Amino acid sequence: MSESPLAPAASPAASAPAATHLTSLLAAPAVTALTPEPRTLLVKVFGKDRPGITTGLFTTLAEYGVDVVDFEQVVTRGRIVLCALVTAPRLEGELRANLHQWAEGQRLQAEVISGTGDNRPRGEGRSHVTVLGHPLTAAAVAALSARVTACGGNIDRVFRLAKYPVTAVELAVSGVPTPFLRAELAQEAAAQRVDVAVVRSGLQRRAKRLVVMDVDSTLIQDEVIELFAAHAGCEEQVAAVTAAAMRGEIDFAESLRARVALLAGLDEDVVAKVRAAVRLTPGARTLIRTLKRLGYQVAVVSGGFTQVTDDLVERLGLDFAAANTLEVVDGKFTGRVVGEIVDRAGKARMLERFAVAAGVPLEQTVAIGDGANDLDMLNAAGLGVAFNAKPMVREAADTAVNVPFLDTVLYLLGISREEVEDADGGSLLSS
Ligand SMILES: [Mg+2]
Repeated sequence: MSESPLAPAASPAASAPAATHLTSLLAAPAVTALTPEPRTLLVKVFGKDRPGITTGLFTTLAEYGVDVVDFEQVVTRGRIVLCALVTAPRLEGELRANLHQWAEGQRLQAEVISGTGDNRPRGEGRSHVTVLGHPLTAAAVAALSARVTACGGNIDRVFRLAKYPVTAVELAVSGVPTPFLRAELAQEAAAQRVDVAVVRSGLQRRAKRLVVMDVDSTLIQDEVIELFAAHAGCEEQVAAVTAAAMRGEIDFAESLRARVALLAGLDEDVVAKVRAAVRLTPGARTLIRTLKRLGYQVAVVSGGFTQVTDDLVERLGLDFAAANTLEVVDGKFTGRVVGEIVDRAGKARMLERFAVAAGVPLEQTVAIGDGANDLDMLNAAGLGVAFNAKPMVREAADTAVNVPFLDTVLYLLGISREEVEDADGGSLLSS
């Protein structure tokens, strides 16, 4: 602490001895000095959890008429850590002795720390950071927390959201603007091979939202056009064009027209076979069911075809859908699509349109996708999630999920596995 620049203003007694001078500088400024912080006691209890610990502690404290300022408790693998911040009583010495006596009787460790006031206020710039690991290594946690510290942030709270199908923890971080923290942690997450989502804290996080999903390789494990191509005997040819388009190497609309042309002459009755062949991504049903229960609206927007998305809308109870339609004449595909193509820009437009229809501001929307044609939609949404995406998509999105379970998106929204299972009546199945 450098005292010289402050000395004349802070200490009118310029000739005061050095020790007194320092004391006056260290004292709180005049405004707070008029209302000194009350003395408080921090009581920490640690040991084997059993019923009655919280009651026992507070019954002991109650005998001294103290007030509760803060109270937090965590139980991990049968061990309890309980912290109570209370106002200091007149008979502090006696309270301390009684607390230690009670703790010994319970075979608990107790610590009582004197001080003043409440917790320090949390810093400006508050975020929720969700970390998904499969597994979550200690090295990854060390690297991520070091990055938070290096940004000038502080981890204020940690909470486990899930142990299945991935280990998911949520950190409340303060002291760093959210976009900066997001960029820093995204780099570290890639290096540590974990998934990290950083969202601004606040009411908006819990507000009713709209989730818009891509279909091919996101909601379902397949690329629908390849399922059609298998029936037309041109699967390999189509797959090669699809891969190039998803990597962003060729224009999506152009590639779609080229691929659809290969389907010309195919009988319309393959639609039923393709619908039956579609495989939902693991966790898709859990994600949609849980979102619907929470009052979210759920939509799909696909560069694929209404011939398949119509069926998904019905099976999954989706609220909105947009996709291309394969033209059919006399029961056969013509090799053309009807009307305007849902391409990269079209997907973002659909997100906006659905948001208006759902009455949800864009910042309360979530978009999920894997391909280059999803990028505009991911960037336009309040939270864009690249799901097992191609590298260029992963790098451009807010958040990347690289585990093959769609229900992990719930953890990014702060919904815990326990809440999902409670809503399902205790079912442990991820379907
Ligand atoms: Mg896709």
